[in-house]
Amino acid sequence: MSDCVFCRIVAGQIPSTRVFEDEDTVAFMDIGQVNPGHVLVAVKRHADNLYALDEAQAAAVARTSARVARAIRDAFAPAGLSVYQANGKAAGQTVFHYHVHLLPRHEADGMELTWPVKNPPREKLEGYAEKIRTQLA
Ligand code: AMP
Ligand code: ZN
Repeated sequence: MSDCVFCRIVAGQIPSTRVFEDEDTVAFMDIGQVNPGHVLVAVKRHADNLYALDEAQAAAVARTSARVARAIRDAFAPAGLSVYQANGKAAGQTVFHYHVHLLPRHEADGMELTWPVKNPPREKLEGYAEKIRTQLA
């Protein structure tokens, strides 16, 4: 048996409360429920994180996330919805099997993400962008 908790969920070896699945993804209720209607969209075939997804998985997660997000909106009428996804311990990832959080939001719901902007000059932006473009080429 896998020691990955989400692989066990995919295989039906431990319980989950599913809302949707297709060939590449499964969507189930996050056990922690930061707000009611909090859903995780996970890939079925194990991938540690975003870097490890193949094209089909990446497309399938985007498709399922949009579909389930609309269902959460219609079911719970939240004031907003945050899409959250962590890669690596430093980013807050605790389950190392790729998943996206769909989190209904309400005013003053206690959910916080500090956003320490640096507002660097344009030349800095160009330098950062060039490093990324080089890797994409
Ligand atoms: P993170 O890796 O930080 O994006 O978060 C992992 C999420 O998985 C947390 O929000 C947990 O509440 C959730 N989680 C962990 N184990 C289970 C489980 N067995 N069923 C449903 N959700 C889970
Ligand atoms: Zn896994």
